[in-house]
Amino acid sequence: MKFDKSLIATLREDPKEAESKSHRILLRGGFIKQIAAGVHIYLPLGWRILMKISNIIREEHDRIGAQELLMPAISPKEIWEESGRWKEYGDEMFRFKDRKDRDYCLCPTHEEIITEIARKRIRSYRDLPQIWYQIQMKFRDEKRPRYGVIRSRQFIMKDSYSLVRDEQGLDKSFNLHKEAYTKIFQRCGLDFEIVDAAGGLMGTGESKEFVARGEGGEATVIACKNCNYRANLEVAEGRGRFAEFEDSQVTDVHTPDKRSVEEVSGFLNVTPQNLVKSIFFTAAEKKPILILLRGDYDINEDVIKNRFGFSYETATPDEIIKYFGAEPGFIGPIGKDDIDIYVDELLKGARGMITGANKNNYHIRGLNLERDIKVKDYLNLRKVKSGDKCIKCQGELELYNGLELGHIFKLGTKYSEILGATFLDENGVEKPIVMGSYGIGLERIMAWACEQKGDEHGAVWPISITPYDIYVIVLNPLNKEIANAADDINQALTKGGFSIIIDDRDISAGIKFNDSELLGIPIRLTIGPKGMKSNKFDISLRETKEVFEVNKNLIADKCLELKDILYRRLNE
Ligand SMILES: [Zn+2]
Repeated sequence: MKFDKSLIATLREDPKEAESKSHRILLRGGFIKQIAAGVHIYLPLGWRILMKISNIIREEHDRIGAQELLMPAISPKEIWEESGRWKEYGDEMFRFKDRKDRDYCLCPTHEEIITEIARKRIRSYRDLPQIWYQIQMKFRDEKRPRYGVIRSRQFIMKDSYSLVRDEQGLDKSFNLHKEAYTKIFQRCGLDFEIVDAAGGLMGTGESKEFVARGEGGEATVIACKNCNYRANLEVAEGRGRFAEFEDSQVTDVHTPDKRSVEEVSGFLNVTPQNLVKSIFFTAAEKKPILILLRGDYDINEDVIKNRFGFSYETATPDEIIKYFGAEPGFIGPIGKDDIDIYVDELLKGARGMITGANKNNYHIRGLNLERDIKVKDYLNLRKVKSGDKCIKCQGELELYNGLELGHIFKLGTKYSEILGATFLDENGVEKPIVMGSYGIGLERIMAWACEQKGDEHGAVWPISITPYDIYVIVLNPLNKEIANAADDINQALTKGGFSIIIDDRDISAGIKFNDSELLGIPIRLTIGPKGMKSNKFDISLRETKEVFEVNKNLIADKCLELKDILYRRLNE
């Protein structure tokens, strides 16, 4: 393909909207173009990458016996009402009405539709197991679309669903996906780890995430320095140290305008460990709850949502004033026996603590949790901190940032029970189908290849997903001899099965070299006056900058050899 006849549009400058490295490279290289917040066009270069990723995903799913189908992107309201998620999804679901005033949504996921197929199609244990998958556009009206294609409102997802008869079958299909995902991300050239994860809106069964390190990916992983414990911060558990303070009677202390942990501990000259934070959660039609946490930890809101319900949110200042008679920053658990109080484990037996007095500009000293308040339960409610100890081996825990590339869930019978998808076993007994659900974000693979491999000059595509194999730069293209030599070589390369970009634009060499780096094509061939003299031309590798001088007749052979080498390096 000739550069000047193509839809490639590289940018000289970093676009203003670029929020991260991958976003910058994808925009500057003309792989994607944004047309609204979180909505993108995949230009030919980006689309070729996504097609390569799709093919790898297809091969690995076909290998585990999964069957591809395609479900609609729109779906009527009724099936989502049956599952309860028409309401649960809230503002994140794009909804619309058809001309007959019937409600529809743009599907954010497809569990409901799969279950609809299953309840029509699966009759007996003989029909199981099944794995069905699709590569399909998904729609989620994200509150804050960010980082280009990382958190967008329209995205391409591979989603698969396993339907089996029992837990054993679920283990098997879960593990098959774990292996397939491992191969997919390895073949795409990404470094990643498999970590424990939360089910979120999908359910509460076992789930694992495939997380790749890097900034701007929104996932935080807790990793043990000593053993293989890896967990998303949302579900990570760690051991913290208990703190001991002297017991005393409850007394008021004047803390004018001191609200935050830092302000109060600084003013009273104590450590944050001496403070108890009170965090108040409310939910429509549900009982409010008060969470107590030691001052040196943050709350894990995902645990709250998973445990108490997704509708729970931290209370507004007005709600706080209404329930506690004091402004945020001055509330506490004393005298609040009418509210369910849940306390983080690290506060078990805590005494001599400082907390809000439920009176503006006052705190209290001497809180003894067992003596002074009615605790509903002690739970693990805090976010793990770097330096906490591992629950498996007592090793030290550390945090790293990354991106969730894929996620696998054991759904169990959540959807089949609600939606009535059953089968008859050998004894004619009707049972709910046991399900698993598995997803990969295709654009995330593309973006993370930029994040992990790219450099200050641009993308460095792994050979397996590159939009083209070779970038051919023709210097002095108006010179007849050079143009003829370039034609010969390009014909030989095309015949050899390579996909190539021919850059014979009549512009400066510098721009061509810069564009070749920005586009990140793994192999570059330079045809110019220097090579014409010696009949040897430079072939270089984008990633390592290795350069080879190759005789004109051997160029296709050398490129084949280099392509093999690049494939082998992928898995090193
Ligand atoms: Zn450990």
